[in-house]
Amino acid sequence: MTGVSLLAAIGTLLIWFTDRQQGLTTAWDQWTIPMLSALYFGISVLHVIKPRCMPWALPPTLIATSVYLLVALHLAMVGQSLPKLYAATSLTQLIPVFYVIAFVSWPRGGAGISGLTYAGLLAQYLFSLHAPMPAGGWSDVHQLTQKTLLASVVIHPACILALSFITHLRGQLSTSQQEAFKGKERFLAMLSHEIRTPLQAMLGSIDLLALKLHGSTETRALDRLRNSATQLDTHLRDITEFTRLEDPALRIQADTFDLTQLLQDLRDDWIERAQSKGLTLSIDIAPDEQTSLQTVTADATRVRQIVSNLISNALKYTMVGGVTVHASLSRQQRGRAMTIVVEDSGIGIAAHHLAAIFQPYVRLEDARALRVDGSGLGLAVVQRLVDRLGGRLHVDSHPDRGSRFTVELPMADNG
Ligand code: ADP
Repeated sequence: MTGVSLLAAIGTLLIWFTDRQQGLTTAWDQWTIPMLSALYFGISVLHVIKPRCMPWALPPTLIATSVYLLVALHLAMVGQSLPKLYAATSLTQLIPVFYVIAFVSWPRGGAGISGLTYAGLLAQYLFSLHAPMPAGGWSDVHQLTQKTLLASVVIHPACILALSFITHLRGQLSTSQQEAFKGKERFLAMLSHEIRTPLQAMLGSIDLLALKLHGSTETRALDRLRNSATQLDTHLRDITEFTRLEDPALRIQADTFDLTQLLQDLRDDWIERAQSKGLTLSIDIAPDEQTSLQTVTADATRVRQIVSNLISNALKYTMVGGVTVHASLSRQQRGRAMTIVVEDSGIGIAAHHLAAIFQPYVRLEDARALRVDGSGLGLAVVQRLVDRLGGRLHVDSHPDRGSRFTVELPMADNG
Protein backbone atom coordinates (compact mmCIF):
# COMPACT_ATOMS: atom_id res chain seq x y z
CA MET A 1 0.00 0.00 0.00
CA THR A 2 2.78 2.42 0.95
CA GLY A 3 4.59 1.61 -2.32
CA VAL A 4 1.44 2.05 -4.45
CA SER A 5 0.51 5.42 -2.95
CA LEU A 6 4.11 6.66 -3.13
CA LEU A 7 4.21 5.61 -6.78
CA ALA A 8 0.89 7.40 -7.37
CA ALA A 9 2.22 10.54 -5.63
CA ILE A 10 5.40 10.61 -7.72
CA GLY A 11 3.59 9.55 -10.95
CA THR A 12 0.95 12.29 -10.74
CA LEU A 13 3.58 14.92 -10.04
CA LEU A 14 5.69 13.75 -13.00
CA ILE A 15 2.70 13.76 -15.39
CA TRP A 16 1.75 17.21 -14.10
CA PHE A 17 5.28 18.49 -14.59
CA THR A 18 5.68 17.18 -18.18
CA ASP A 19 2.16 18.32 -19.15
CA ARG A 20 2.92 21.75 -17.74
CA GLN A 21 6.12 21.96 -19.79
CA GLN A 22 4.09 21.31 -22.93
CA GLY A 23 1.28 23.67 -21.90
CA LEU A 24 -1.27 20.85 -21.58
CA THR A 25 -2.45 21.55 -18.04
CA THR A 26 -5.71 23.40 -17.43
CA ALA A 27 -6.38 25.86 -14.60
CA TRP A 28 -8.10 22.96 -12.80
CA ASP A 29 -5.02 20.72 -13.14
CA GLN A 30 -2.71 23.48 -11.91
CA TRP A 31 -3.79 23.16 -8.30
CA THR A 32 -5.68 19.85 -8.09
CA ILE A 33 -2.83 17.58 -9.25
CA PRO A 34 -0.30 18.82 -6.65
CA MET A 35 -3.04 18.50 -4.02
CA LEU A 36 -3.79 14.93 -5.09
CA SER A 37 -0.10 14.12 -5.10
CA ALA A 38 0.21 15.51 -1.55
CA LEU A 39 -2.82 13.42 -0.55
CA TYR A 40 -1.23 10.21 -1.91
CA PHE A 41 2.01 11.06 -0.18
CA GLY A 42 0.07 11.60 3.07
CA ILE A 43 -1.62 8.23 2.63
CA SER A 44 1.72 6.43 2.27
CA VAL A 45 3.07 8.13 5.41
CA LEU A 46 -0.16 7.33 7.30
CA HIS A 47 0.10 3.69 6.26
CA VAL A 48 3.51 3.52 7.92
CA ILE A 49 2.80 5.45 11.11
CA LYS A 50 -0.92 4.74 11.76
CA PRO A 51 -2.04 1.78 9.63
CA ARG A 52 -5.23 1.53 11.70
CA CYS A 53 -6.48 4.85 10.30
CA MET A 54 -6.35 3.62 6.71
CA PRO A 55 -10.04 2.51 6.56
CA TRP A 56 -11.03 6.15 7.30
CA ALA A 57 -8.48 7.80 5.03
CA LEU A 58 -8.91 5.68 1.90
CA PRO A 59 -12.57 6.41 0.93
CA PRO A 60 -12.15 10.23 0.85
CA THR A 61 -8.92 9.84 -1.15
CA LEU A 62 -10.64 7.63 -3.73
CA ILE A 63 -13.65 9.97 -3.92
CA ALA A 64 -11.31 12.98 -4.43
CA THR A 65 -9.50 11.10 -7.23
CA SER A 66 -12.79 10.17 -8.90
CA VAL A 67 -14.04 13.78 -8.75
CA TYR A 68 -10.73 15.01 -10.17
CA LEU A 69 -10.84 12.55 -13.09
CA LEU A 70 -14.45 13.38 -13.99
CA VAL A 71 -14.02 17.16 -13.79
CA ALA A 72 -10.76 17.01 -15.78
CA LEU A 73 -12.49 14.87 -18.40
CA HIS A 74 -15.38 17.30 -18.60
CA LEU A 75 -13.02 20.24 -19.08
CA ALA A 76 -11.16 18.33 -21.79
CA MET A 77 -14.47 17.57 -23.52
CA VAL A 78 -15.71 21.12 -23.60
CA GLY A 79 -12.32 22.39 -24.75
CA GLN A 80 -12.40 20.58 -28.12
CA SER A 81 -8.82 21.24 -29.14
CA LEU A 82 -6.06 18.76 -29.98
CA PRO A 83 -4.33 19.05 -26.56
CA LYS A 84 -7.73 18.53 -24.96
CA LEU A 85 -8.27 15.41 -27.05
CA TYR A 86 -4.91 14.16 -25.78
CA ALA A 87 -6.02 14.91 -22.21
CA ALA A 88 -9.40 13.18 -22.68
CA THR A 89 -7.70 10.07 -24.10
CA SER A 90 -5.19 9.81 -21.26
CA LEU A 91 -7.90 10.38 -18.67
CA THR A 92 -10.14 7.63 -20.05
CA GLN A 93 -7.12 5.32 -19.93
CA LEU A 94 -6.36 6.31 -16.35
CA ILE A 95 -9.90 5.53 -15.16
CA PRO A 96 -9.48 1.67 -15.39
CA VAL A 97 -6.26 2.02 -13.36
CA PHE A 98 -8.36 3.90 -10.83
CA TYR A 99 -10.92 1.03 -10.77
CA VAL A 100 -8.13 -1.49 -10.03
CA ILE A 101 -6.69 0.65 -7.22
CA ALA A 102 -10.20 1.21 -5.78
CA PHE A 103 -10.99 -2.54 -5.74
CA VAL A 104 -7.61 -3.53 -4.30
CA SER A 105 -7.36 -0.87 -1.61
CA TRP A 106 -11.04 -0.78 -0.62
CA PRO A 107 -12.63 -4.18 -1.39
CA ARG A 108 -15.97 -3.24 0.21
CA GLY A 109 -16.43 0.10 -1.49
CA GLY A 110 -14.42 -0.51 -4.68
CA ALA A 111 -17.48 -1.53 -6.72
CA GLY A 112 -19.49 1.45 -5.45
CA ILE A 113 -16.91 4.13 -6.19
CA SER A 114 -16.01 2.55 -9.56
CA GLY A 115 -19.73 2.35 -10.48
CA LEU A 116 -20.21 6.02 -9.61
CA THR A 117 -17.14 7.03 -11.62
CA TYR A 118 -18.47 5.03 -14.55
CA ALA A 119 -21.87 6.74 -14.21
CA GLY A 120 -20.06 10.09 -14.41
CA LEU A 121 -18.23 8.92 -17.54
CA LEU A 122 -21.50 7.78 -19.14
CA ALA A 123 -23.10 11.12 -18.32
CA GLN A 124 -20.19 12.90 -20.03
CA TYR A 125 -20.64 10.76 -23.12
CA LEU A 126 -24.40 11.44 -23.29
CA PHE A 127 -23.68 15.11 -22.73
CA SER A 128 -21.14 15.11 -25.57
CA LEU A 129 -23.75 13.61 -27.94
CA HIS A 130 -26.15 16.48 -27.38
CA ALA A 131 -23.79 19.35 -26.63
CA PRO A 132 -23.21 21.62 -29.60
CA MET A 133 -19.67 21.82 -30.90
CA PRO A 134 -17.97 24.86 -29.36
CA ALA A 135 -17.39 27.84 -31.58
CA GLY A 136 -14.05 27.45 -33.30
CA GLY A 137 -13.91 23.74 -32.36
CA TRP A 138 -12.73 21.19 -34.91
CA SER A 139 -15.29 18.64 -36.01
CA ASP A 140 -12.59 15.93 -36.35
CA VAL A 141 -11.52 16.48 -32.76
CA HIS A 142 -15.14 16.55 -31.65
CA GLN A 143 -15.81 13.18 -33.31
CA LEU A 144 -12.57 11.63 -32.13
CA THR A 145 -13.25 12.65 -28.52
CA GLN A 146 -16.73 11.19 -28.77
CA LYS A 147 -15.32 7.93 -30.15
CA THR A 148 -12.77 7.77 -27.33
CA LEU A 149 -15.54 8.21 -24.81
CA LEU A 150 -17.76 5.66 -26.57
CA ALA A 151 -14.95 3.06 -26.44
CA SER A 152 -14.53 3.69 -22.70
CA VAL A 153 -18.27 3.56 -22.08
CA VAL A 154 -18.38 0.13 -23.77
CA ILE A 155 -15.19 -1.35 -22.29
CA HIS A 156 -15.31 -0.08 -18.68
CA PRO A 157 -18.35 -2.15 -17.51
CA ALA A 158 -16.44 -5.33 -18.46
CA CYS A 159 -13.52 -4.05 -16.43
CA ILE A 160 -15.72 -3.32 -13.37
CA LEU A 161 -17.51 -6.68 -13.69
CA ALA A 162 -14.20 -8.58 -13.88
CA LEU A 163 -12.87 -6.73 -10.82
CA SER A 164 -16.11 -7.35 -8.89
CA PHE A 165 -15.89 -11.04 -9.76
CA ILE A 166 -12.25 -11.29 -8.62
CA THR A 167 -13.10 -9.43 -5.38
CA HIS A 168 -16.06 -11.75 -4.81
CA LEU A 169 -13.81 -14.81 -5.33
CA ARG A 170 -11.24 -13.40 -2.93
CA GLY A 171 -13.98 -12.83 -0.32
CA GLN A 172 -15.26 -16.39 -0.77
CA LEU A 173 -11.74 -17.77 -0.46
CA SER A 174 -11.10 -15.95 2.79
CA THR A 175 -14.52 -17.01 4.17
CA SER A 176 -13.86 -20.66 3.38
CA GLN A 177 -10.34 -20.30 4.78
CA GLN A 178 -11.82 -18.91 8.00
CA GLU A 179 -14.37 -21.72 8.13
CA ALA A 180 -11.59 -24.28 7.65
CA PHE A 181 -9.66 -22.69 10.51
CA LYS A 182 -12.74 -22.67 12.71
CA GLY A 183 -13.34 -26.38 11.93
CA LYS A 184 -9.72 -27.19 12.73
CA GLU A 185 -9.91 -25.17 15.92
CA ARG A 186 -13.15 -26.89 17.00
CA PHE A 187 -11.51 -30.25 16.35
CA LEU A 188 -8.40 -29.29 18.30
CA ALA A 189 -10.43 -27.84 21.15
CA MET A 190 -12.41 -31.07 21.34
CA LEU A 191 -9.27 -33.21 21.07
CA SER A 192 -7.50 -31.14 23.64
CA HIS A 193 -10.48 -31.32 26.01
CA GLU A 194 -11.09 -35.04 25.49
CA ILE A 195 -7.44 -35.97 26.04
CA ARG A 196 -6.24 -33.34 28.45
CA THR A 197 -9.12 -33.71 30.91
CA PRO A 198 -8.45 -37.43 31.62
CA LEU A 199 -4.73 -36.64 31.56
CA GLN A 200 -5.18 -34.06 34.32
CA ALA A 201 -7.18 -36.63 36.30
CA MET A 202 -4.34 -39.12 35.81
CA LEU A 203 -1.78 -36.58 37.03
CA GLY A 204 -3.92 -35.90 40.10
CA SER A 205 -4.15 -39.62 40.88
CA ILE A 206 -0.39 -40.03 40.37
CA ASP A 207 0.20 -37.31 42.97
CA LEU A 208 -2.18 -39.05 45.39
CA LEU A 209 -0.50 -42.40 44.84
CA ALA A 210 2.91 -40.81 45.40
CA LEU A 211 1.84 -39.89 48.92
CA LYS A 212 1.13 -43.55 49.68
CA LEU A 213 4.07 -45.28 47.99
CA HIS A 214 7.35 -45.59 49.84
CA GLY A 215 9.46 -48.17 47.99
CA SER A 216 12.12 -46.62 45.76
CA THR A 217 11.24 -48.86 42.77
CA GLU A 218 7.56 -47.89 42.93
CA THR A 219 8.40 -44.20 43.41
CA ARG A 220 10.72 -44.27 40.38
CA ALA A 221 8.03 -45.95 38.28
CA LEU A 222 5.52 -43.35 39.41
CA ASP A 223 7.95 -40.53 38.57
CA ARG A 224 8.36 -41.93 35.05
CA LEU A 225 4.57 -42.11 34.75
CA ARG A 226 4.22 -38.51 35.93
CA ASN A 227 6.91 -37.31 33.51
CA SER A 228 5.30 -39.05 30.56
CA ALA A 229 1.85 -37.69 31.39
CA THR A 230 3.27 -34.16 31.81
CA GLN A 231 5.12 -34.43 28.49
CA LEU A 232 1.96 -35.57 26.71
CA ASP A 233 0.07 -32.65 28.22
CA THR A 234 2.77 -30.17 27.09
CA HIS A 235 2.86 -31.59 23.54
CA LEU A 236 -0.90 -31.34 23.24
CA ARG A 237 -0.88 -27.77 24.47
CA ASP A 238 1.92 -26.83 22.01
CA ILE A 239 0.16 -28.40 19.03
CA THR A 240 -3.15 -26.70 19.88
CA GLU A 241 -1.45 -23.35 20.34
CA PHE A 242 0.63 -23.63 17.18
CA THR A 243 -2.43 -24.46 15.07
CA ARG A 244 -4.51 -21.70 16.64
CA LEU A 245 -1.86 -19.15 15.63
CA GLU A 246 -2.35 -20.06 11.95
CA ASP A 247 -5.79 -18.45 12.03
CA PRO A 248 -5.58 -15.12 10.18
CA ALA A 249 -8.65 -13.89 12.09
CA LEU A 250 -6.89 -14.31 15.45
CA ARG A 251 -7.45 -11.12 17.41
CA ILE A 252 -4.57 -9.27 19.00
CA GLN A 253 -5.47 -7.16 22.05
CA ALA A 254 -3.99 -3.82 23.03
CA ASP A 255 -3.74 -3.97 26.84
CA THR A 256 -1.91 -1.45 28.96
CA PHE A 257 0.01 -3.39 31.58
CA ASP A 258 3.02 -3.37 33.87
CA LEU A 259 5.80 -5.28 32.10
CA THR A 260 7.96 -5.39 35.26
CA GLN A 261 5.11 -7.06 37.14
CA LEU A 262 4.51 -9.51 34.29
CA LEU A 263 8.18 -10.54 34.35
CA GLN A 264 8.15 -10.87 38.16
CA ASP A 265 5.06 -13.13 37.90
CA LEU A 266 6.84 -15.26 35.31
CA ARG A 267 9.85 -15.51 37.61
CA ASP A 268 7.54 -16.73 40.39
CA ASP A 269 6.12 -19.34 37.98
CA TRP A 270 9.52 -20.69 36.96
CA ILE A 271 11.72 -20.21 40.04
CA GLU A 272 10.92 -23.63 41.51
CA ARG A 273 11.93 -25.31 38.26
CA ALA A 274 15.17 -23.29 38.16
CA GLN A 275 16.03 -24.09 41.76
CA SER A 276 15.33 -27.79 41.26
CA LYS A 277 18.14 -27.73 38.65
CA GLY A 278 20.41 -25.58 40.84
CA LEU A 279 20.06 -22.61 38.46
CA THR A 280 19.46 -18.92 39.11
CA LEU A 281 16.59 -17.03 37.48
CA SER A 282 16.69 -13.25 37.68
CA ILE A 283 15.02 -10.21 36.18
CA ASP A 284 17.32 -7.36 35.26
CA ILE A 285 15.77 -3.94 34.63
CA ALA A 286 17.79 -0.72 34.78
CA PRO A 287 16.45 1.63 37.52
CA ASP A 288 15.70 4.41 35.02
CA GLU A 289 13.56 1.99 32.93
CA GLN A 290 11.42 0.80 35.87
CA THR A 291 8.80 3.58 35.66
CA SER A 292 8.38 3.58 31.89
CA LEU A 293 7.97 -0.21 31.84
CA GLN A 294 5.03 0.08 34.22
CA THR A 295 2.73 1.24 31.41
CA VAL A 296 3.38 -0.57 28.17
CA THR A 297 0.75 -1.32 25.55
CA ALA A 298 0.60 -4.68 23.79
CA ASP A 299 -1.25 -7.99 23.98
CA ALA A 300 -0.28 -8.97 27.55
CA THR A 301 -1.31 -12.63 27.18
CA ARG A 302 0.81 -13.07 24.06
CA VAL A 303 3.81 -11.25 25.54
CA ARG A 304 3.56 -13.50 28.57
CA GLN A 305 3.40 -16.58 26.33
CA ILE A 306 6.49 -15.49 24.36
CA VAL A 307 8.64 -14.81 27.44
CA SER A 308 7.38 -17.92 29.21
CA ASN A 309 8.35 -20.14 26.26
CA LEU A 310 11.80 -18.54 26.11
CA ILE A 311 12.38 -18.94 29.87
CA SER A 312 11.17 -22.55 29.67
CA ASN A 313 13.69 -23.29 26.89
CA ALA A 314 16.50 -21.42 28.64
CA LEU A 315 15.95 -23.51 31.79
CA LYS A 316 15.64 -26.72 29.76
CA TYR A 317 18.91 -26.24 27.90
CA THR A 318 20.97 -24.85 30.78
CA MET A 319 22.78 -27.22 33.10
CA VAL A 320 24.94 -24.78 35.12
CA GLY A 321 24.71 -21.08 35.85
CA GLY A 322 21.38 -19.44 35.23
CA VAL A 323 18.92 -17.43 33.22
CA THR A 324 18.47 -13.65 33.19
CA VAL A 325 15.61 -11.70 31.66
CA HIS A 326 16.37 -8.09 30.67
CA ALA A 327 13.74 -5.57 29.60
CA SER A 328 13.98 -2.05 28.23
CA LEU A 329 12.15 0.46 26.05
CA SER A 330 13.41 1.95 22.84
CA ARG A 331 12.16 4.44 20.28
CA GLN A 332 11.94 3.15 16.75
CA GLN A 333 10.81 4.50 13.40
CA ARG A 334 7.22 3.42 14.10
CA GLY A 335 7.09 4.61 17.72
CA ARG A 336 7.97 3.08 21.06
CA ALA A 337 9.02 -0.55 21.30
CA MET A 338 9.86 -2.89 24.15
CA THR A 339 12.89 -5.13 24.06
CA ILE A 340 12.94 -8.30 26.12
CA VAL A 341 16.08 -10.43 26.24
CA VAL A 342 16.22 -13.94 27.69
CA GLU A 343 19.83 -14.90 28.26
CA ASP A 344 21.15 -18.21 29.53
CA SER A 345 24.50 -19.85 30.25
CA GLY A 346 23.39 -23.14 28.70
CA ILE A 347 24.56 -25.53 26.02
CA GLY A 348 24.22 -22.93 23.23
CA ILE A 349 23.45 -23.55 19.57
CA ALA A 350 25.91 -23.95 16.70
CA ALA A 351 25.72 -21.15 14.11
CA HIS A 352 24.61 -23.47 11.29
CA HIS A 353 21.57 -24.58 13.33
CA LEU A 354 20.33 -21.10 14.18
CA ALA A 355 17.99 -20.70 11.20
CA ALA A 356 16.40 -24.13 11.66
CA ILE A 357 15.35 -23.87 15.29
CA PHE A 358 12.35 -21.64 14.51
CA GLN A 359 10.88 -24.23 12.14
CA PRO A 360 8.04 -26.32 13.57
CA TYR A 361 8.92 -29.80 14.88
CA VAL A 362 12.68 -29.16 14.60
CA ARG A 363 14.84 -30.43 17.45
CA LEU A 364 18.60 -30.29 17.22
CA GLU A 365 20.71 -33.38 16.93
CA ASP A 366 22.87 -32.29 19.83
CA ALA A 367 23.26 -35.22 22.21
CA ARG A 368 22.72 -32.98 25.23
CA ALA A 369 19.60 -31.35 23.72
CA LEU A 370 18.12 -34.74 22.80
CA ARG A 371 18.14 -35.79 26.44
CA VAL A 372 15.73 -32.93 27.15
CA ASP A 373 12.05 -33.42 26.46
CA GLY A 374 10.35 -31.23 23.87
CA SER A 375 8.05 -31.15 20.86
CA GLY A 376 10.10 -28.83 18.65
CA LEU A 377 7.21 -26.35 18.64
CA GLY A 378 8.17 -23.90 21.40
CA LEU A 379 10.26 -21.54 19.24
CA ALA A 380 7.91 -21.90 16.25
CA VAL A 381 5.09 -20.67 18.51
CA VAL A 382 7.30 -17.79 19.72
CA GLN A 383 8.19 -16.83 16.14
CA ARG A 384 4.52 -16.84 15.08
CA LEU A 385 3.48 -14.79 18.10
CA VAL A 386 6.22 -12.22 17.51
CA ASP A 387 5.20 -11.96 13.83
CA ARG A 388 1.57 -11.52 14.84
CA LEU A 389 2.53 -8.67 17.16
CA GLY A 390 4.55 -7.05 14.37
CA GLY A 391 7.85 -7.55 16.20
CA ARG A 392 11.26 -9.09 15.58
CA LEU A 393 12.98 -12.10 17.10
CA HIS A 394 16.72 -12.51 17.09
CA VAL A 395 19.02 -15.16 18.52
CA ASP A 396 22.66 -14.95 19.33
CA SER A 397 24.25 -18.15 20.60
CA HIS A 398 27.58 -19.89 21.11
CA PRO A 399 27.98 -23.60 21.87
CA ASP A 400 28.87 -24.22 25.52
CA ARG A 401 28.61 -20.50 26.33
CA GLY A 402 24.89 -19.90 26.18
CA SER A 403 22.14 -18.24 24.16
CA ARG A 404 20.54 -14.86 24.01
CA PHE A 405 17.04 -14.53 22.53
CA THR A 406 16.01 -10.92 21.84
CA VAL A 407 12.38 -9.99 21.22
CA GLU A 408 11.50 -6.50 19.99
CA LEU A 409 7.81 -5.67 20.12
CA PRO A 410 6.20 -2.45 18.93
CA MET A 411 3.79 -0.84 21.37
CA ALA A 412 0.23 -1.08 20.15
CA ASP A 413 -1.35 2.32 19.46
CA ASN A 414 1.26 4.50 21.11
CA GLY A 415 1.41 8.24 20.97
P1 ADP B 1 11.74 -27.94 22.02
O1 ADP B 1 10.37 -28.34 22.41
O2 ADP B 1 12.53 -29.05 21.44
O3 ADP B 1 12.45 -27.20 23.09
P2 ADP B 1 11.82 -25.49 20.54
O4 ADP B 1 11.14 -25.11 19.27
O5 ADP B 1 11.51 -24.70 21.74
O6 ADP B 1 11.51 -27.00 20.76
O7 ADP B 1 13.38 -25.42 20.28
C1 ADP B 1 13.93 -26.01 19.11
C2 ADP B 1 15.33 -26.47 19.39
O8 ADP B 1 16.16 -25.31 19.58
C3 ADP B 1 15.44 -27.25 20.67
O9 ADP B 1 15.18 -28.62 20.44
C4 ADP B 1 16.88 -26.98 21.11
O10 ADP B 1 17.75 -27.88 20.45
C5 ADP B 1 17.16 -25.58 20.57
N1 ADP B 1 17.03 -24.57 21.63
C6 ADP B 1 15.96 -23.79 21.89
N2 ADP B 1 16.21 -22.94 22.91
C7 ADP B 1 17.48 -23.17 23.30
C8 ADP B 1 18.33 -22.60 24.30
N3 ADP B 1 17.93 -21.62 25.10
N4 ADP B 1 19.59 -23.10 24.38
C9 ADP B 1 20.01 -24.07 23.56
N5 ADP B 1 19.27 -24.66 22.62
C10 ADP B 1 18.02 -24.20 22.46
